[in-house]
Amino acid sequence: MRIETLAIHAGQHTDPTTGAVIPPIHLSTTFEREADGTFAHGYIYTRSGNPNREALEQCLQALEGGAGAAAFASGSAATMAVFQALAPGDHVLAPTDSYHGTAYLLRQVFIPWGLQVSFVDLTDLDAVAAALQPNTRLVWIETPSNPLLKIVDLAGVTELAHRAGVRVACDNTWATPILQRPFEWGVDVVVHATTKYLGGHSDILGGAVISRVADEFFTKIRAIQGAGGAVPAPFDCWLLLRGIRTLPYRMRAHSENAQQLAHFLEGHPQVERVHYPGLLSHPAHALAQRQMKLPGGMLSFEIKGGRERAFAVAAGVRVFTRATSLGGVESLIEHRASIEGPQTKTPDNLLRLSIGLEHPEDLIADLDSALA
Ligand SMILES: *Cc1c(COP(=O)(O)O)cnc(C)c1O
Repeated sequence: MRIETLAIHAGQHTDPTTGAVIPPIHLSTTFEREADGTFAHGYIYTRSGNPNREALEQCLQALEGGAGAAAFASGSAATMAVFQALAPGDHVLAPTDSYHGTAYLLRQVFIPWGLQVSFVDLTDLDAVAAALQPNTRLVWIETPSNPLLKIVDLAGVTELAHRAGVRVACDNTWATPILQRPFEWGVDVVVHATTKYLGGHSDILGGAVISRVADEFFTKIRAIQGAGGAVPAPFDCWLLLRGIRTLPYRMRAHSENAQQLAHFLEGHPQVERVHYPGLLSHPAHALAQRQMKLPGGMLSFEIKGGRERAFAVAAGVRVFTRATSLGGVESLIEHRASIEGPQTKTPDNLLRLSIGLEHPEDLIADLDSALA
Protein backbone atom coordinates (compact mmCIF):
# COMPACT_ATOMS: atom_id res chain seq x y z
CA MET A 1 0.00 0.00 0.00
CA ARG A 2 1.08 3.57 -0.63
CA ILE A 3 1.94 5.97 2.16
CA GLU A 4 -1.28 8.04 1.95
CA THR A 5 -3.26 4.84 2.58
CA LEU A 6 -0.93 3.61 5.33
CA ALA A 7 -1.23 6.94 7.15
CA ILE A 8 -4.98 6.37 7.43
CA HIS A 9 -5.18 2.60 7.90
CA ALA A 10 -1.95 1.16 9.37
CA GLY A 11 -2.59 0.05 12.95
CA GLN A 12 -6.13 1.49 12.79
CA HIS A 13 -9.20 -0.71 12.76
CA THR A 14 -12.89 -0.39 13.50
CA ASP A 15 -13.40 -1.27 17.18
CA PRO A 16 -14.70 -4.86 17.27
CA THR A 17 -16.75 -4.43 20.47
CA THR A 18 -18.64 -1.21 19.50
CA GLY A 19 -18.19 -0.74 15.76
CA ALA A 20 -16.60 2.67 16.43
CA VAL A 21 -14.74 3.71 13.27
CA ILE A 22 -12.26 5.79 15.24
CA PRO A 23 -10.55 3.72 17.95
CA PRO A 24 -11.42 4.45 21.60
CA ILE A 25 -8.84 5.74 24.09
CA HIS A 26 -7.79 3.10 26.62
CA LEU A 27 -6.87 4.94 29.81
CA SER A 28 -6.71 1.82 31.98
CA THR A 29 -3.24 1.29 33.42
CA THR A 30 -3.89 -2.39 34.17
CA PHE A 31 -5.46 -5.36 32.38
CA GLU A 32 -7.32 -8.37 33.79
CA ARG A 33 -5.72 -11.81 34.10
CA GLU A 34 -7.54 -15.02 33.30
CA ALA A 35 -8.17 -17.57 36.07
CA ASP A 36 -5.16 -19.51 34.83
CA GLY A 37 -2.94 -16.41 35.17
CA THR A 38 -2.62 -15.65 31.44
CA PHE A 39 -3.45 -12.34 29.72
CA ALA A 40 -6.03 -13.10 27.01
CA HIS A 41 -5.49 -9.80 25.14
CA GLY A 42 -1.73 -9.57 25.54
CA TYR A 43 -1.78 -6.46 27.75
CA ILE A 44 -0.57 -6.52 31.36
CA TYR A 45 0.30 -3.00 32.50
CA THR A 46 0.33 0.16 30.41
CA ARG A 47 4.04 0.96 30.85
CA SER A 48 4.91 -2.23 28.95
CA GLY A 49 2.02 -2.05 26.48
CA ASN A 50 -1.19 -0.14 25.73
CA PRO A 51 -3.62 -0.56 22.79
CA ASN A 52 -3.33 3.09 21.69
CA ARG A 53 0.45 3.01 21.81
CA GLU A 54 0.53 -0.26 19.92
CA ALA A 55 -1.70 1.19 17.18
CA LEU A 56 0.58 4.22 16.91
CA GLU A 57 3.71 2.05 16.76
CA GLN A 58 2.21 -0.12 14.00
CA CYS A 59 1.45 3.01 11.99
CA LEU A 60 4.93 4.52 12.48
CA GLN A 61 6.59 1.24 11.55
CA ALA A 62 4.51 1.04 8.36
CA LEU A 63 5.20 4.68 7.39
CA GLU A 64 8.99 4.26 7.62
CA GLY A 65 8.95 0.70 6.28
CA GLY A 66 10.70 -0.72 9.36
CA ALA A 67 10.51 -3.95 11.33
CA GLY A 68 9.60 -2.39 14.68
CA ALA A 69 8.73 0.95 16.29
CA ALA A 70 8.87 2.16 19.88
CA ALA A 71 6.98 5.33 20.88
CA PHE A 72 8.38 7.66 23.53
CA ALA A 73 7.16 10.62 25.57
CA SER A 74 9.35 13.06 23.59
CA GLY A 75 11.79 13.18 20.72
CA SER A 76 14.53 13.63 23.30
CA ALA A 77 13.45 10.50 25.22
CA ALA A 78 13.59 8.57 21.92
CA THR A 79 17.08 9.99 21.26
CA MET A 80 18.18 8.99 24.77
CA ALA A 81 16.95 5.42 24.28
CA VAL A 82 19.23 5.02 21.24
CA PHE A 83 22.31 6.24 23.17
CA GLN A 84 21.31 4.17 26.23
CA ALA A 85 21.30 1.06 24.03
CA LEU A 86 25.06 1.60 23.56
CA ALA A 87 27.61 0.79 26.28
CA PRO A 88 30.06 3.01 28.19
CA GLY A 89 33.32 3.12 26.22
CA ASP A 90 31.53 3.11 22.84
CA HIS A 91 32.31 5.91 20.41
CA VAL A 92 29.67 7.94 18.55
CA LEU A 93 29.93 10.30 15.58
CA ALA A 94 27.45 13.17 15.78
CA PRO A 95 27.03 16.18 13.50
CA THR A 96 28.55 19.54 14.42
CA ASP A 97 25.13 21.13 13.87
CA SER A 98 22.75 18.59 15.39
CA TYR A 99 19.52 19.66 17.12
CA HIS A 100 20.93 21.55 20.11
CA GLY A 101 19.04 19.31 22.58
CA THR A 102 20.78 16.24 21.16
CA ALA A 103 24.22 17.85 21.51
CA TYR A 104 23.25 18.88 25.06
CA LEU A 105 22.26 15.28 25.96
CA LEU A 106 25.53 13.96 24.58
CA ARG A 107 27.63 16.54 26.42
CA GLN A 108 25.74 16.66 29.73
CA VAL A 109 24.50 13.07 30.13
CA PHE A 110 26.21 10.57 27.86
CA ILE A 111 29.84 11.75 27.91
CA PRO A 112 29.79 11.68 31.76
CA TRP A 113 28.10 8.23 31.47
CA GLY A 114 31.05 6.97 29.41
CA LEU A 115 30.24 7.47 25.73
CA GLN A 116 33.00 8.96 23.59
CA VAL A 117 31.66 11.48 21.10
CA SER A 118 33.24 13.16 18.08
CA PHE A 119 31.31 16.05 16.56
CA VAL A 120 32.00 15.95 12.82
CA ASP A 121 30.79 17.80 9.73
CA LEU A 122 28.86 14.88 8.23
CA THR A 123 28.53 16.68 4.89
CA ASP A 124 32.27 15.95 4.45
CA LEU A 125 32.64 12.21 3.73
CA ASP A 126 36.44 12.36 4.13
CA ALA A 127 35.95 13.80 7.63
CA VAL A 128 33.52 10.96 8.43
CA ALA A 129 35.98 8.31 7.24
CA ALA A 130 38.79 9.92 9.26
CA ALA A 131 36.70 10.12 12.44
CA LEU A 132 35.67 6.43 12.54
CA GLN A 133 37.55 4.56 15.31
CA PRO A 134 37.81 0.86 16.20
CA ASN A 135 35.31 1.46 19.05
CA THR A 136 32.84 3.52 16.96
CA ARG A 137 29.38 1.96 17.31
CA LEU A 138 27.01 4.62 15.99
CA VAL A 139 26.84 7.47 13.49
CA TRP A 140 24.03 9.91 14.29
CA ILE A 141 22.75 11.80 11.23
CA GLU A 142 20.32 14.68 11.08
CA THR A 143 19.28 15.85 7.62
CA PRO A 144 18.19 18.49 6.77
CA SER A 145 20.13 19.93 9.69
CA ASN A 146 18.94 22.46 12.23
CA PRO A 147 19.05 25.39 11.65
CA LEU A 148 21.34 25.60 8.59
CA LEU A 149 19.48 23.05 6.45
CA LYS A 150 22.68 21.21 5.56
CA ILE A 151 22.05 17.99 3.66
CA VAL A 152 23.93 14.83 4.69
CA ASP A 153 24.43 12.12 2.05
CA LEU A 154 22.56 9.23 3.70
CA ALA A 155 23.85 6.57 1.28
CA GLY A 156 27.42 7.91 1.39
CA VAL A 157 27.71 8.08 5.19
CA THR A 158 25.91 4.75 5.64
CA GLU A 159 28.24 2.99 3.20
CA LEU A 160 31.33 4.28 5.07
CA ALA A 161 29.84 3.33 8.44
CA HIS A 162 28.68 -0.12 7.37
CA ARG A 163 32.08 -0.91 5.85
CA ALA A 164 33.46 -0.32 9.37
CA GLY A 165 30.65 -2.36 10.97
CA VAL A 166 29.05 0.75 12.47
CA ARG A 167 25.29 1.27 12.89
CA VAL A 168 23.65 4.45 11.52
CA ALA A 169 20.77 6.37 13.08
CA CYS A 170 18.96 9.23 11.35
CA ASP A 171 16.81 11.87 13.04
CA ASN A 172 14.14 12.16 10.34
CA THR A 173 12.00 14.74 12.18
CA TRP A 174 12.34 17.52 9.63
CA ALA A 175 11.77 15.47 6.50
CA THR A 176 9.27 12.88 7.83
CA PRO A 177 8.80 9.55 6.01
CA ILE A 178 6.79 11.43 3.39
CA LEU A 179 9.79 13.38 2.07
CA GLN A 180 12.73 11.15 2.97
CA ARG A 181 13.03 7.39 3.49
CA PRO A 182 16.28 6.69 5.38
CA PHE A 183 15.87 2.88 5.33
CA GLU A 184 16.01 2.95 1.53
CA TRP A 185 19.54 4.43 1.82
CA GLY A 186 20.65 1.74 4.26
CA VAL A 187 20.13 3.60 7.55
CA ASP A 188 19.52 1.21 10.49
CA VAL A 189 17.49 3.28 12.95
CA VAL A 190 15.16 6.25 12.41
CA VAL A 191 14.32 8.68 15.22
CA HIS A 192 11.47 11.19 15.28
CA ALA A 193 10.30 14.04 17.43
CA THR A 194 6.63 13.27 16.69
CA THR A 195 6.01 16.58 18.49
CA LYS A 196 6.66 18.24 15.14
CA TYR A 197 5.22 17.28 11.72
CA LEU A 198 3.81 13.86 12.66
CA GLY A 199 1.62 15.40 15.36
CA GLY A 200 1.32 18.45 13.15
CA HIS A 201 -0.78 20.67 15.40
CA SER A 202 1.63 21.85 18.14
CA ASP A 203 -0.38 20.13 20.88
CA ILE A 204 1.51 16.96 21.80
CA LEU A 205 5.03 16.05 22.88
CA GLY A 206 6.23 12.70 21.54
CA GLY A 207 9.03 10.70 20.01
CA ALA A 208 9.71 7.40 18.27
CA VAL A 209 12.49 5.01 17.36
CA ILE A 210 11.92 2.82 14.31
CA SER A 211 14.27 -0.01 13.38
CA ARG A 212 14.92 -1.35 9.86
CA VAL A 213 15.43 -4.87 11.21
CA ALA A 214 14.27 -6.70 14.34
CA ASP A 215 17.72 -7.10 15.88
CA GLU A 216 19.27 -7.18 19.34
CA PHE A 217 19.80 -3.39 19.30
CA PHE A 218 16.08 -2.77 18.83
CA THR A 219 15.26 -5.34 21.52
CA LYS A 220 17.38 -3.24 23.88
CA ILE A 221 15.55 -0.06 22.88
CA ARG A 222 12.22 -1.81 23.47
CA ALA A 223 13.47 -2.93 26.92
CA ILE A 224 14.57 0.63 27.77
CA GLN A 225 11.11 1.89 26.73
CA GLY A 226 9.25 -0.66 28.89
CA ALA A 227 11.56 -0.60 31.89
CA GLY A 228 12.05 3.18 32.02
CA GLY A 229 8.52 4.11 31.01
CA ALA A 230 9.27 7.33 29.09
CA VAL A 231 6.16 6.54 27.06
CA PRO A 232 3.41 8.74 25.62
CA ALA A 233 0.01 8.72 27.35
CA PRO A 234 -2.85 6.92 25.55
CA PHE A 235 -4.52 10.25 24.69
CA ASP A 236 -1.29 11.54 23.11
CA CYS A 237 -0.99 8.34 21.05
CA TRP A 238 -4.56 8.82 19.89
CA LEU A 239 -3.94 12.49 18.98
CA LEU A 240 -0.79 11.54 17.11
CA LEU A 241 -2.64 8.99 14.98
CA ARG A 242 -5.23 11.65 14.28
CA GLY A 243 -2.50 14.01 13.08
CA ILE A 244 -0.72 11.37 11.01
CA ARG A 245 -3.82 10.71 8.89
CA THR A 246 -3.28 14.02 7.05
CA LEU A 247 0.55 13.98 7.13
CA PRO A 248 1.16 13.18 3.42
CA TYR A 249 -0.99 16.11 2.27
CA ARG A 250 0.28 18.51 4.92
CA MET A 251 3.91 17.83 3.95
CA ARG A 252 3.27 18.68 0.30
CA ALA A 253 1.62 21.97 1.24
CA HIS A 254 4.32 22.86 3.83
CA SER A 255 6.94 22.28 1.16
CA GLU A 256 5.11 24.18 -1.61
CA ASN A 257 4.65 27.18 0.69
CA ALA A 258 8.26 27.09 1.89
CA GLN A 259 9.53 26.99 -1.70
CA GLN A 260 7.61 30.19 -2.47
CA LEU A 261 8.83 31.91 0.70
CA ALA A 262 12.43 30.89 -0.07
CA HIS A 263 12.23 32.43 -3.57
CA PHE A 264 10.75 35.61 -2.15
CA LEU A 265 13.47 35.93 0.52
CA GLU A 266 16.27 35.13 -1.91
CA GLY A 267 15.18 38.06 -4.06
CA HIS A 268 14.86 40.53 -1.15
CA PRO A 269 17.56 43.24 -0.87
CA GLN A 270 17.59 43.07 2.98
CA VAL A 271 18.40 39.35 2.97
CA GLU A 272 22.00 38.19 2.88
CA ARG A 273 21.46 34.46 2.49
CA VAL A 274 18.66 31.89 2.43
CA HIS A 275 19.22 28.31 3.60
CA TYR A 276 16.71 26.09 1.81
CA PRO A 277 17.53 22.86 -0.05
CA GLY A 278 14.91 23.66 -2.70
CA LEU A 279 16.95 26.62 -3.96
CA LEU A 280 19.50 26.22 -6.78
CA SER A 281 21.86 28.31 -4.63
CA HIS A 282 21.88 25.63 -1.88
CA PRO A 283 25.29 23.87 -1.93
CA ALA A 284 23.63 20.42 -1.80
CA HIS A 285 20.58 21.15 -3.98
CA ALA A 286 21.31 18.19 -6.31
CA LEU A 287 21.79 15.78 -3.38
CA ALA A 288 18.55 17.01 -1.79
CA GLN A 289 16.71 16.42 -5.06
CA ARG A 290 18.03 12.87 -5.19
CA GLN A 291 17.46 12.04 -1.55
CA MET A 292 14.23 13.88 -0.74
CA LYS A 293 10.86 13.86 -2.51
CA LEU A 294 10.42 17.58 -1.72
CA PRO A 295 12.67 20.06 0.15
CA GLY A 296 10.31 20.42 3.14
CA GLY A 297 8.71 23.17 5.21
CA MET A 298 11.72 24.52 7.14
CA LEU A 299 14.05 27.32 6.06
CA SER A 300 16.32 29.88 7.63
CA PHE A 301 17.72 33.15 6.40
CA GLU A 302 20.41 35.61 7.38
CA ILE A 303 19.55 39.23 7.42
CA LYS A 304 21.79 42.18 6.54
CA GLY A 305 22.61 44.13 9.71
CA GLY A 306 23.13 41.52 12.44
CA ARG A 307 21.33 40.56 15.63
CA GLU A 308 19.41 43.80 16.26
CA ARG A 309 17.98 43.79 12.76
CA ALA A 310 17.01 40.11 13.09
CA PHE A 311 15.14 40.87 16.33
CA ALA A 312 13.46 43.89 14.71
CA VAL A 313 12.19 41.80 11.79
CA ALA A 314 10.90 39.07 14.13
CA ALA A 315 9.19 41.81 16.16
CA GLY A 316 7.41 43.13 13.05
CA VAL A 317 5.46 40.03 11.95
CA ARG A 318 1.69 39.67 12.35
CA VAL A 319 0.80 36.35 10.69
CA PHE A 320 3.91 34.47 11.80
CA THR A 321 4.14 33.76 15.53
CA ARG A 322 7.41 34.31 17.43
CA ALA A 323 7.95 30.89 18.99
CA THR A 324 10.28 27.92 18.98
CA SER A 325 9.41 24.46 17.61
CA LEU A 326 8.11 23.57 14.16
CA GLY A 327 5.85 21.37 12.11
CA GLY A 328 2.46 22.84 13.07
CA VAL A 329 -0.15 24.30 10.75
CA GLU A 330 0.74 27.83 11.94
CA SER A 331 3.92 29.54 10.72
CA LEU A 332 6.61 30.31 13.30
CA ILE A 333 9.60 32.64 13.28
CA GLU A 334 12.51 32.33 15.66
CA HIS A 335 15.81 34.00 16.45
CA ARG A 336 17.64 30.72 16.83
CA ALA A 337 20.98 31.70 18.39
CA SER A 338 19.31 33.18 21.48
CA ILE A 339 17.33 29.95 22.08
CA GLU A 340 20.36 27.68 21.68
CA GLY A 341 22.43 29.41 24.37
CA PRO A 342 26.03 30.59 24.65
CA GLN A 343 27.60 27.43 23.06
CA THR A 344 25.77 28.02 19.78
CA LYS A 345 27.51 28.39 16.42
CA THR A 346 24.31 29.67 14.79
CA PRO A 347 24.83 33.08 13.15
CA ASP A 348 23.38 35.96 15.18
CA ASN A 349 21.62 37.41 12.13
CA LEU A 350 19.73 34.16 11.41
CA LEU A 351 15.97 33.73 11.64
CA ARG A 352 14.45 30.27 11.33
CA LEU A 353 11.01 29.80 9.81
CA SER A 354 8.62 26.90 10.17
CA ILE A 355 6.30 27.43 7.23
CA GLY A 356 2.72 26.53 8.04
CA LEU A 357 -0.39 26.00 5.96
CA GLU A 358 -1.62 29.59 5.69
CA HIS A 359 -1.88 31.03 2.17
CA PRO A 360 1.69 31.67 0.94
CA GLU A 361 0.80 35.17 -0.34
CA ASP A 362 -0.25 36.17 3.19
CA LEU A 363 3.03 34.85 4.59
CA ILE A 364 5.05 36.68 1.94
CA ALA A 365 3.16 39.93 2.58
CA ASP A 366 3.78 39.55 6.32
CA LEU A 367 7.56 39.12 5.91
CA ASP A 368 7.68 41.84 3.28
CA SER A 369 6.17 44.37 5.70
CA ALA A 370 8.31 43.14 8.63
CA LEU A 371 11.44 43.59 6.46
CA ALA A 372 10.40 47.06 5.27
C1 LIG B 1 12.31 18.99 18.43
C2 LIG B 1 13.37 18.10 17.94
C3 LIG B 1 13.89 17.08 18.76
C4 LIG B 1 13.45 16.89 20.20
O1 LIG B 1 12.11 16.54 20.33
P1 LIG B 1 11.28 16.86 21.69
O2 LIG B 1 9.96 16.21 21.44
O3 LIG B 1 11.22 18.34 21.83
O4 LIG B 1 12.04 16.24 22.81
C5 LIG B 1 14.85 16.25 18.22
N1 LIG B 1 15.29 16.41 16.95
C6 LIG B 1 14.82 17.37 16.14
C7 LIG B 1 15.35 17.49 14.77
C8 LIG B 1 13.86 18.24 16.61
O5 LIG B 1 13.39 19.22 15.79
